[in-house]
Amino acid sequence: MECKNCQSTLAERADYCSFCGAKIIRNRLNLRNLWTEFTEQYLNLDNTFLRTIKHLFTKPKEVILGYINGQRKRYLNPISLYAIALTFTGILFF
Ligand SMILES: [Zn+2]
Repeated sequence: MECKNCQSTLAERADYCSFCGAKIIRNRLNLRNLWTEFTEQYLNLDNTFLRTIKHLFTKPKEVILGYINGQRKRYLNPISLYAIALTFTGILFF
C-alpha cells in the first residue's frame, strides 16, 4: 500500500503516513462517511471549531501567536474558519 499524498510505501496497519503525516483513509467516499467525518470534526464536544471560537474570544493572542509559531493542529485553520464565518454571516443576512 502506498500513500496517495506522497506515494511513499506505508506500513500495512498505519493510520498516518510516516513521511508526510497524511491520514490514511480506508473508507469509501459516500454520504454516510462524509457525515461521520463532518460530525467528528465540527459537532464533537472536543472539536477544534468550538475550541477555536472560544479561545478567539477569551485569549486571541494565544491563538494567533500559536498559529504563527506553528501550532496548526490545536485550532481550526483560518481558511476553514473564514468559510464557516462567511456561511453564518450569509445565513444571518438573508
Ligand atoms: Zn505520505
